[in-house]
Parts: sequence; C-alpha cells; structure tokens
Amino acid sequence: MGIIRQLAAKESAFSLEFFPPKKDMPMSTVYFAIDRLAVRQPVFVSVTYGAGGGNRDRTLEVVSRVSSMGLDAIAHLTCVGATPATISEILDTLEAKGVRNVLALRGDVPAGMDRETAFTHYRHATDLIAEIKKRPGFIVAAAAYPEAHVESPSLEQDIEYMKLKAELGVDLFITQLCFDTGAVINLYERLYKEGVKTPVVTGIMPVLNPNQIIRMALLSACSIPAPLSKIISRYGEQPEEFKKAGLDYAVRQIALLMEHGINKFHLYTMNKAEEIDQILIHSGLVKR
Ligand code: FAD
Repeated sequence: MGIIRQLAAKESAFSLEFFPPKKDMPMSTVYFAIDRLAVRQPVFVSVTYGAGGGNRDRTLEVVSRVSSMGLDAIAHLTCVGATPATISEILDTLEAKGVRNVLALRGDVPAGMDRETAFTHYRHATDLIAEIKKRPGFIVAAAAYPEAHVESPSLEQDIEYMKLKAELGVDLFITQLCFDTGAVINLYERLYKEGVKTPVVTGIMPVLNPNQIIRMALLSACSIPAPLSKIISRYGEQPEEFKKAGLDYAVRQIALLMEHGINKFHLYTMNKAEEIDQILIHSGLVKR
C-alpha cells in the first residue's frame, strides 16, 4: 500500500526523517538509527537533501537502502542549482531503485552562491512540483509552515501558495518544525476553511539541545513558547535534565495535537534513535 493510502487507513501514524552524514563522515550513524527505528514501522522514511545538492549521492544512497528494507522512502529534492536534466536524472535513479516519492522543496541559497545562480531554472517549489508531476506515478510532497515561511509576509500568503501546490497535484504536506502547538492547530483549521483536502503530517522536532533549538528557531523564524523557554532557562546548563524535559515537551505536544484530532506526525529524528523511540513510546504512537 502506498504512503497516501496508508496515512488515510490509519487512525494515527508517524513517519521519520533522517539526514545523510557529510561526505567525509561514516554512514554508520544514519544506518544505525534507521535500523533501530525501522522495527517501529513508520509509514515512510524521508531523507534530506544537502543545500546545494553537494551531498546528493548520499541522499540517494540512503533512500535506496531504506527502500531495500521494504520501507516507503521519500527523497527530498530542492530547486538549488537544479536543471530539467538533473531533475530528470535524479527521478530516473529513484525509479530504478523503486522509489517514486519525492519531497519537492525550493531550498535556500547556499553560502557563496547568489540567488540567481541558485534558482536559475526553478524559482519556487511550485516550479519543481510542476516539473516532477510531468512524470506519472510519482508521489510529490511539499513543505508547509504553521508560523509562515521566514520570507513570507503572512500566513495568508503562505496558504495561497499551499493552495497552488495542492492545485498542482501535491499529494502530501509536511510541516516545518513548530514548538507552538496552537499555531499547528490554527494551520489545520485555516486549511479546512480554505477547502484544502491534501493530507498533512505534522513535523515534530525533538527538543534535545538548548543551543540547537534556539539556532533552529532563529533560522526558521519559529517561536519558542513560554513552557519551552522555561525548560531552556531551567535546564539549559544540565544536559540530561534538559533532554528529559525536552522529550517530555515533544510527547505533550503530540498529546495535545491528538486531542484536537491531529494524529499524523513526521518526526525529525536528527538521526537519534533512542530519543525518538522514547517519544514514540511515551506518546502512544507505538507500543513498548
Ligand atoms: P517555497 O514553497 O518556494 O516557498 C518559499 C517562499 O516563497 C515562501 O515565503 C512562500 O510563501 C513563497 N512562495 C511559494 N511559492 C511561490 C510562488 N509560486 N511564487 C512566489 N512566491 C512563492 N531544505 C533543504 O535544503 N534540504 C532539505 O532536505 C529540506 N527538507 C525540508 C523538509 C521539510 C519538511 C521542510 C518544512 C523544509 C525543508 N527544507 C529543506 C527547508 C526548505 O528548503 C526551506 O524552508 C526553503 O526556504 C523553502 O522551501 P519551500 O519548498 O517551502 O519553498
């Protein structure tokens, strides 16, 4: 059964995101994490794509391994430096490996590159989505932002582009990390009102390290709500206590969302198997 049918068939479900290690680092860390969590039977496993595509082969390698394990894999893909020829080549490679699922993103301008060079052929995810949709048989996912994309003047405008993505045939939205549970609920309500029927899975970022959380929040312009801010100020200097409180924050976020009927989650694993397993168990998404 494909990803979309699985999501529809399940009362609650989860997927997992991993990143391939940098070129000079061993692949064992990501493979260990995938192997450890595969037994939890995620609906799909997605694999990130380096900003300029420099690590592209590793994305394809990890996706291929995930697929060979019998799991549904989604390859992230960005517009950065992409041309119709490179996209076609990547889709050919994925097809040959039996993978027909892609998360189509714009990506960000890498350091040392200017905007025009980065986005010569595809300026927005919508352009990439339209390109990939020319190929029959590919499931295309796209990004969504509960607190609006960092460059967007408003959530309204972001939702207009989500509607465009949906019209282009996007099969699934995956949301950006968001610690403000109310903002996630608001996004679902707005999409419902706008008649967007495309399934959405909610991205959950585990809170494991205070500096990392602050850096990510700043980069993606997402808020740090008061309860999370308290955890940072209380346990910021105590790594173990911080991790416990942070994992509990993710578990409570999932519980609160489920109370509102939001029950499909995409866990940003950061390649941390044990911590993610704890979140899955304590939120009831899997049995012990
Ligand atoms: P877009 O949809 O193009 O949106 C970017 C901005 O342009 C927004 O402000 C939007 O409102 C606006 N916009 C959208 N469409 C149009 C249009 N047609 N015309 C004019 N304006 C428009 N990055 C990576 O490099 N690698 C990854 O693997 C990766 N994985 C991610 C996974 C998830 C789940 C998410 C949420 C993000 C991920 N990113 C990744 C980050 C992503 O590339 C950045 O957030 C990027 O800045 C925007 O990508 P997008 O696809 O949302 O872009």
